Amino acid sequence: MTVSRAHGIGFTSQRTRDRMVERLRAKGIRDEAVLAAMGEVPRHLFVDEALASRAYEDTALPIGFEQTISQPFVVALMIQALRAGRNDVPLGKVLEIGTGCGYQAAVLSRLAKEVYSIERIGGLLTKARSNLRELRIANLRMVHGDGANGLPEAAPFDAIISAAAAQVLPVALKSQLAVGGRLIAPLHVSAGGPDQALCLIERSASGFSEQWLDPVRFVPLRAGKQ
Ligand code: SAH
Repeated sequence: MTVSRAHGIGFTSQRTRDRMVERLRAKGIRDEAVLAAMGEVPRHLFVDEALASRAYEDTALPIGFEQTISQPFVVALMIQALRAGRNDVPLGKVLEIGTGCGYQAAVLSRLAKEVYSIERIGGLLTKARSNLRELRIANLRMVHGDGANGLPEAAPFDAIISAAAAQVLPVALKSQLAVGGRLIAPLHVSAGGPDQALCLIERSASGFSEQWLDPVRFVPLRAGKQ
């Protein structure tokens, strides 16, 4: 019998993924579409084989280049905040800053019409492309660049999500948000200080509103590409 790596066996099986989803639910994730997407994406494909047995723990894990795959709960929480309870409406056009291994991009691609994801480390983007190959995702474009500049050629975006923490939100990102759109990013609560929290920004016809959510711990947003 052949079992594809995406399908998984034992601690990478559908049952293990279902248990992860139940834990997310117990921790307060309510958006069924987000839970379903996270139940579908095989997270073990996005970490080294040596870490596959830990792929469905609710924890960040190393992915090389001193970066991490985000904690499932935080991925779910951020996407749930972007969707704002609009259960039947897909996310539209989404920009992700920090592709990393590509996991969150794969989850987003199931909930959005189009996803653009920018990564500054070329080696990680190569890894992400190879991780994603087996999943054959048609509505995801990956770009090598500095996400602090956003992606002017594809703007405006209905949703923007950052997987790296900035001291201060780059102005380009706010300006590339569509009216009616939402942006979520980990930010330093005070620039220069250690504490980070999720910041949710909404753009309406009359301007921007800002809301601080949970405290978090993300890798830093760095300038330039390598
Ligand atoms: N989205 C990933 C998490 C990646 S960790 C997941 O699904 O788990 C955050 C990523 O942001 C790292 O890969 C890091 O290299 C990247 N990053 C940091 N600063 C960046 C920038 N200015 N532009 C694009 N990517 C950046």
